[in-house]
Amino acid sequence: MPPNSSTVPGELLESDDATPASASGCPCRALPRSPFTCPESGSSLPAAIVLLRWRPVLCRTPAEGVPVIPVTDYLHQVLALARPLPPRLVPITDALGCVLAEDLVGTFGLPGFDNSAMDGYAVRANEVAEASPQMPVSLPVVADIPAGDTRRHTMSVGQAMRIMTGAPIPQGADTIVPVELTDGGTTTVQIRASARPGQHVRTAGEDIAAGAVVLPAGTRIGPRQLALAASAGAGGAVVHPLPRVAVMSTGDELVQAGTVPDFGQVIDSNAPMLVAAIREAGFAAIPVTGVRDTPEQVLAALREVVDADAEPVDAVVTTGGVSMGAYDAVKEALLTLGTVTFTQVAMQPGKPQGVGVVGERQVPVFTLPGNPVSALVSFEVFVAPALRVMAGRPTFERPMQPAIAAHDFGSPPDKMQFNRVVVDRSSDGDGDGAIRSGVTGSASHDPRPPWRDVIRRPPSVRLAGVGQGSHMFGGLAEADALAVIPVAVTSVAAGDALTCLPLPGGWWG
Ligand code: AMP
Ligand code: MG
Repeated sequence: MPPNSSTVPGELLESDDATPASASGCPCRALPRSPFTCPESGSSLPAAIVLLRWRPVLCRTPAEGVPVIPVTDYLHQVLALARPLPPRLVPITDALGCVLAEDLVGTFGLPGFDNSAMDGYAVRANEVAEASPQMPVSLPVVADIPAGDTRRHTMSVGQAMRIMTGAPIPQGADTIVPVELTDGGTTTVQIRASARPGQHVRTAGEDIAAGAVVLPAGTRIGPRQLALAASAGAGGAVVHPLPRVAVMSTGDELVQAGTVPDFGQVIDSNAPMLVAAIREAGFAAIPVTGVRDTPEQVLAALREVVDADAEPVDAVVTTGGVSMGAYDAVKEALLTLGTVTFTQVAMQPGKPQGVGVVGERQVPVFTLPGNPVSALVSFEVFVAPALRVMAGRPTFERPMQPAIAAHDFGSPPDKMQFNRVVVDRSSDGDGDGAIRSGVTGSASHDPRPPWRDVIRRPPSVRLAGVGQGSHMFGGLAEADALAVIPVAVTSVAAGDALTCLPLPGGWWG
């Protein structure tokens, strides 16, 4: 799949005609089925593409008179800086999580040789054609062939060989009789059933042909792909390497997790949160902490990670210091470079943003606001898609999910709001009492297998935590998703349809 494409399924993106989602709704309360559907054309484009085309109604905050740009325009700016990292040949065992930049060609066919699919006896089918429990066929057992036996056995007419699963079929045999259909003899065997030729024989090359393309370019290497590549004899793979991202939290008030803050200090949660988010998303993260609110410190810390001789980073994410106040050192420092643009984005949370490149290698830098919720939302909406492009992956991999508002709530005018929401686990939404099992993991001790029940209607969601303030951790930790409330919507009623951007580890996984 090419970068910048999306796996968002079409049904979530169809017909955004701004018709009221609730039967009772007046049009101003209308929630489109997807905020990522283009209202100009009404087309069902993949989310990332639509995001780029979608325009909020207002692009200016009248009260402040400060230009504010739409989320989609800003995402466009961010993605414009993201290019797949140059391909590199890596040992196949180091390729986990990487995307193939070239087709991966296998050396061996799979299976590599004809072998037995059962523990039993290798025989000739025509010699046991009349075998039955009443009239067993008796054959001498002339060899034992365990898995791993590298000898090339030849079996003469009128003979049998005892054989184990995975062991090579001897020359002359054309079928396997499972041990359960014999007396299990070791010198002579009583065969109690007929067997058709080829039965329980795994034929060389039947799965994968020797020299075939086993994984096409664009494939992301996961555990299953590693198994195939390794089995087919591919020693290495040409991949887009995983982006290495420096996470730099800035702020005079910050102290490290595990220490007790003095009055006026706060524990740095953005660094561990974003390092974890980056790793969870399948990239490499390097924390850079202790950067104080001076432009000199910010520039020095940046230079250290961007111009490092050994293993320079591919991107930098900073948090804090990009608002309108004094001591906003990140903004002050990076404005001097002239390669980073600072912007107000029509969203909540996450309004102050900055993006650009730094250093000789033109390393992309994303400057996120310091409030923890703002930082996380900015990461999910802007940074993670850009990092995925750098890794050769699609911008948005998780499909947007439909949900039903469990209660009324308001949304600010002129901004796309990203509300933390929690799925109501007590119902699957269609009122039939069939709770989706398996979703709470093993801790639920639910004996039902997770594939038993299927959600037929979207689940209902409530706002997470006690409030939606961008400093509030409770709702952030509890949330399953970000409900994306379009710019034009200022109030949501119970029963309205919502579109949610799933959060990693939440209900939608
Ligand atoms: P700023 O964006 O620097 O104006 O910070 C906005 C708010 O986020 C302030 O209350 C900061 O104390 C808080 N904040 C900034 N950075 C972090 C961080 N790394 N961890 C937790 N809170 C932070
Ligand atoms: Mg600050």
